[in-house]
Amino acid sequence: MTETTVVDLETLVALCKRRGFIFPSSEIYGGIGGFWDYGPLGAELKRNIRDAWWRACVQRRNDIVGLDASIIMHRDVWVASGHVAEFTDPMVDCRRCKRRFRADDVAGPRCPECGGELTDARRFNLMFKTFVGPVEDDAALTYLRPETAQGIFVNFRAVQQAMRLRLPFGIAQMGKAFRNEITPGKYLFRSREFEQMEIEYFVKPGTDEEMHRRWVDERLSWYVSLGMRRESLRLYEYPPHELAHYSKATVDIQFRFPFGWAELEGIANRTAFDLQQHSEHSGNDLRYYDDETNEHYLPYVIEPSAGVDRSFLAFLIDAYREEPDKDETRVLLRLHPALAPVKVAVLPLSKKPALTALAHEVHALVRQSWPSMYDETQSIGRRYRRQDEIGTPFCVTIDFQSLEDRAVTIRDRDTMAQVRVPIAELCPALADRLRY
Ligand code: ATP
Repeated sequence: MTETTVVDLETLVALCKRRGFIFPSSEIYGGIGGFWDYGPLGAELKRNIRDAWWRACVQRRNDIVGLDASIIMHRDVWVASGHVAEFTDPMVDCRRCKRRFRADDVAGPRCPECGGELTDARRFNLMFKTFVGPVEDDAALTYLRPETAQGIFVNFRAVQQAMRLRLPFGIAQMGKAFRNEITPGKYLFRSREFEQMEIEYFVKPGTDEEMHRRWVDERLSWYVSLGMRRESLRLYEYPPHELAHYSKATVDIQFRFPFGWAELEGIANRTAFDLQQHSEHSGNDLRYYDDETNEHYLPYVIEPSAGVDRSFLAFLIDAYREEPDKDETRVLLRLHPALAPVKVAVLPLSKKPALTALAHEVHALVRQSWPSMYDETQSIGRRYRRQDEIGTPFCVTIDFQSLEDRAVTIRDRDTMAQVRVPIAELCPALADRLRY
């Protein structure tokens, strides 16, 4: 496999299931389309993606603060945002087999499954409905949020005042979003329950175009800083006729998925559309007071909107390698150490009690600081392979000499180079290699 070959989806799906990254939701009941469960390693990788985003977008900046708004909000939020009226996909039904498709996914006038006749396209709202309180009537109807952004807009004034923020500033939020996609698929790419990482970056009108360009660069660099190959990414700028009604300009960061280039993150210039809508619908004046110019105005907003699950899939695809190793092939995930679900594996060379006792001692040290694994079964070669396949950057091996000199070997996943260090210096040595 060359550096640029893309792993096929079936291989990745099989690896993810076998090694505990991703399981189909409710599988023992036959599964449910568009929902996925993150297993032990998947939960770690997903958390690492979120943490890396939060570090870069909140912790290490002084112009962005975080927010964690509720998933269920007042129904009028979704009226004001335009989702009740506009958040629809055109859908067609097959009159014969009754299957339902996104109109965009069907090429001709016939059902792609059975060749039957299709109905005309109708609009289907993608929001999941639910009821608040014990009475399931219209007054109690609301929705599971289809994006995290609106939680930010409705809290704009509260956050700005509480934190005494001055333009330009951003509010960042990550969390679950739900869309009743007509045709979920392509593994984690399009699911019905997923997570978003969104920033609403508020700016003075007139500075928005420059800020939009800066955010495109900033977000592209984020993926590359976490080890994604630049050639796996490209930018797609929407032509005017493809823009959403609220957007002045949108650039997508696309990733080369096995099924083709597709959106990983969208960076939109939403103008003052959302704040304007919420001002009108709620009757609250959401204008910002600019004490330099003594003016009140609605800020414009630049929105970098990324998906946790799509990033998860992209990072895995990009990290996957098959490399020749002696007579065999070594499968490895070259995940950035910040993302790797397990940072260090502790491996005694054999199961002899003297060795395993020392290995347990070393493991106790290591796991104070890093997610780690202990493995003593099968040959050392097989155990290295198992760790390579889940992307563990470092293996620490305890051998017979370790009993004499209290030193161990650190083996690097990518180069397979080995260095020997005293146990007393192991944690600082690992910390040097795991700084991010
Ligand atoms: P698409 O055109 O693929 O449906 P979108 O343009 O509707 O996506 P946005 O509303 O811009 O997507 O959402 C921002 C981000 O949220 C996307 O870039 C993607 O990473 C993620 N996302 C959106 N819908 C889904 C989904 N159904 N499953 C997983 N991630 C999603």
